[in-house]
Amino acid sequence: MKVLIVGGGGREHAIAWKLAQSDKVDKVYCAPGNAGIAELAECIPVKAEDIGGICRAAKENQVDLAVIGPEVPLAMGMVDELEKVGVKTFGPNKKCAQLEASKAFTKAFLEKHNIPTARYKEFTHKAELLNSLGIFGYPMVIKADGLAAGKGVVIAETEEEARKAIEEMMGDKVFGAAGDKVVVEEYLTGVEASMLCFVDEHTIVPMESAQDYKRIFDGDKGPNTGGMGTYSPSLVFNPELEERIRTKILEPTLAGFQKDGLNFKGVLFIGLMIGEDGPKVIEFNNRFGDPETQSVLLRLETDLFDIFSAVVDNKLSDVNIKWSEKKAVCVVLASGGYPGAYEKGKEICGLDQVDKDVIVFHAGTALKEEKVVTDGGRVLGVAVLGDTHEEARKKAFENVKKISFDGMQYRKDIGVVVIK
Ligand code: ATP
Repeated sequence: MKVLIVGGGGREHAIAWKLAQSDKVDKVYCAPGNAGIAELAECIPVKAEDIGGICRAAKENQVDLAVIGPEVPLAMGMVDELEKVGVKTFGPNKKCAQLEASKAFTKAFLEKHNIPTARYKEFTHKAELLNSLGIFGYPMVIKADGLAAGKGVVIAETEEEARKAIEEMMGDKVFGAAGDKVVVEEYLTGVEASMLCFVDEHTIVPMESAQDYKRIFDGDKGPNTGGMGTYSPSLVFNPELEERIRTKILEPTLAGFQKDGLNFKGVLFIGLMIGEDGPKVIEFNNRFGDPETQSVLLRLETDLFDIFSAVVDNKLSDVNIKWSEKKAVCVVLASGGYPGAYEKGKEICGLDQVDKDVIVFHAGTALKEEKVVTDGGRVLGVAVLGDTHEEARKKAFENVKKISFDGMQYRKDIGVVVIK
């Protein structure tokens, strides 16, 4: 079988790595891919958002399955277009992709189906919103409705901060049309955790948990990033909490999809706040999280191609998904300056020095004159399995030290488990 993966980050490298291990997969293509993916797949120089180009590449290479990594092509309806030209595709269609592409859509869905979430109100007029400052008290959670690359949420501590955020979103349009509508939410407290699930029209199956580290600096300091590392399984979860999530969130979500005619097929990423009164949904994403995927897929024992095919054919309940008992840690190595401005094109040294059983997933890398160079904010993810979290963590950092590039930064507390 031939598979085309759309995207070019660490998540797509992890998917490519796992698919390449399948007996059923003869060839992996990736568009656009990166320097690491190029070692196990044929990279096609087509951008992940280029729907026409991706459809042509899928047809020309006669792929049997396409897998869409990032949220933007999903929101644009890439799955619908690939299916129109006869390519089976893993990922939600445009209608279902609203669950990530519109926060108002998701909040309405959650409320309609009595799934626990923060109280909310949506606004399309700036003046009306400015007249409703602090409707749920402070901090005031203010969210641009559309996709804003993880930057569209402001937690305003004061009225002044709230006014500023609203002016930026609805007046200055810093997020473009994503800020035409704004969602205001009640502020939730507790521990944040996420759950990734495989979903088809009849079944929802949670994957093993992973905990991510969003802030740039140790001790959860500094600005938010796309994610600086993960460990799996997450120690936030326990059987009682998992059961509560299953009955209060997963089952009602699947039933809601069925009632609303949302034929979701793909990965549902559920962002949760675990508070005193139980877990509540903060957000849905429509795809594998990055870098959660790197830790989670390292522990997957079942053939990923079988899972993807089963989801596409609505036969997920037939697959017995098995996970390793081992623990995983993934440490992200980022460019100096990230998540602010950073330089690209720095030579990466030491990749050939890492231990054989350590997987270095490439995120932002490129090949330049036969050298691997930095090409993004998050550059690499050093992913390791161990018998304990501590063993995996120790080994990950021993190997991180073998890699270097100008300006390289990483968090040293990944896998040190502090649950606040
Ligand atoms: P990302 O893509 O980075 O996950 P996003 O832009 O899709 O984020 P959300 O996940 O909805 O937006 O919110 C981002 C972060 O803001 C959350 O991870 C959480 O820390 C915080 N947050 C969001 N909603 C609330 C809330 N109601 N109460 C408290 N904190 C919240």
